[in-house]
Formats: sequence, structure tokens, C-alpha cells
Amino acid sequence: MDSLPSTIAIDGPAASGKSTIGKILAEQLDYLYLDTGAMYRAVTLLALEAGIDPDNGPAVAALAATPIEIHPPGNAYDSRQYTVFIHGRDITWALRSPAVDEHVSAVAAHPEVRRLLVEQQRRIGHRGRVVMVGRDIGTVVVPDADLKIYLEASVEERARRRCEERQARGEDCDYEEILADMRERDRRDANRATGPMRPAGDAYRIDSTGLTPDEVVDRILKLMATEEA
Ligand code: C5P
Repeated sequence: MDSLPSTIAIDGPAASGKSTIGKILAEQLDYLYLDTGAMYRAVTLLALEAGIDPDNGPAVAALAATPIEIHPPGNAYDSRQYTVFIHGRDITWALRSPAVDEHVSAVAAHPEVRRLLVEQQRRIGHRGRVVMVGRDIGTVVVPDADLKIYLEASVEERARRRCEERQARGEDCDYEEILADMRERDRRDANRATGPMRPAGDAYRIDSTGLTPDEVVDRILKLMATEEA
């Protein structure tokens, strides 16, 4: 790599630190930040609100064509990383509800849903100067990304982080329940037939267990500096 990577793909399981790290990195490089998980969550929320069974592929896929707008957080003084609108409605925090957590991996397993969302993600990825985070960015969405990172952390640490996030928003958190849900979501995400969660062959794997977000970002920046040399 003889210049800065223009497309950075960060994949990994839930609460591995992808979003926090992706956001900091994008800010430091002045790149666009795109959390693709928000798109699968938006389709899930629409399905739940419409009373559609998340396992009903054709019905859920019909919702995946809905325009999903993701904007910088603007003047919102909460801890959001971006604002998501559907038909002008701010659904940013609704995307984080336990019901969406529970059903999103079923929605994301439908090949037609993935095809529609991946198409939109690719268009953004190929514009360059972007940090994209998800499960299949380095393998499916932009396999030609200039830099690929696969972030991992123990499932216990990830459940603890998710609990802390919920508590920071003043919500209740049952650690054991979150741990069980997370294990189940990992299992589904890793075992689906289309776009399963897995590291690309040429991804750098980083275990963030016990590391602060800044320490992980430092590692990535060092990696970029070495690659550039
Ligand atoms: O990253 P986050 O936890 O918000 O993602 C929610 C869910 O969306 C994941 O558990 C996964 O089922 C799905 N997802 C996906 N492919 C992506 C991003 C997210 O299947 N690129």
C-alpha cells in the first residue's frame, strides 16, 4: 500500500468494538463512517412494526427496498454515532431495542435482503474515503478494500460492554440474558449460507479483549504506517 487506504473494512461479532473503533478512525482520517448493521436493524424494526414474521423472507425482503437514510449525528446531544431516518422519522435509538437485537440475525439471513442492502453498501464503498463496519464487508461487500480488519473479543467481555452501553442509556440490563442472546446471534451470523460472518483471508485480526478503543485504533494506525512504508 503506497498511500492511505481509501476503503477500510472492519468486520467482527457484536460488541467487538467495531463501531467505536470505526467511528474514531473515520474521524481521524476525515472519512465517511458507515455502520452496515444499522441497515439490517432498520429492516428488522420495520418488519416488527408491521407485524411481519422475521422468518418470512419474501415479506421482509419487500421492506429492504425502503430508503434508509444515515446522516452524521448533527446537533443531537446524546451518545449517537449517526442518525438514521426512515420516511423522515428518526429511528436511531429504536434500532437498539432488545426486540431488534433478538430478531436482526433472522432478518439478515435472507439472501434477498442481503442482496438489496449489499448493493447499496457497495455503491458507498466504491466512492472511497470510507470506513465500513459489519460482518461481511471484507469478504462480500468490498472484497477489494484497501485495508481489512477483523475485530474479536471474548463473548463475556462483549456482553459486559453491551450491558454497560444499555445502563449508560438508563436502561435495564440482565447480563446472563445478553450473554445468551449474543452467543445465539454469533452462531446464526457465522452459520448462515449467504455472507456469513468470517474474517477475509487477508484481514488483520485484532483481539480487543482488555484493550481500550484508543489502544485498538493505535494498533490500526501503526498497521497503516507499516503498510505505507
Ligand atoms: O453490528 P450490529 O450488531 O449492529 O449488527 C446487527 C446484525 O446485523 C448482526 O447480528 C447481523 O445479523 C447483521 N449484519 C449482517 N451483515 C453486516 C452487518 C450486520 O448480517 N454487514
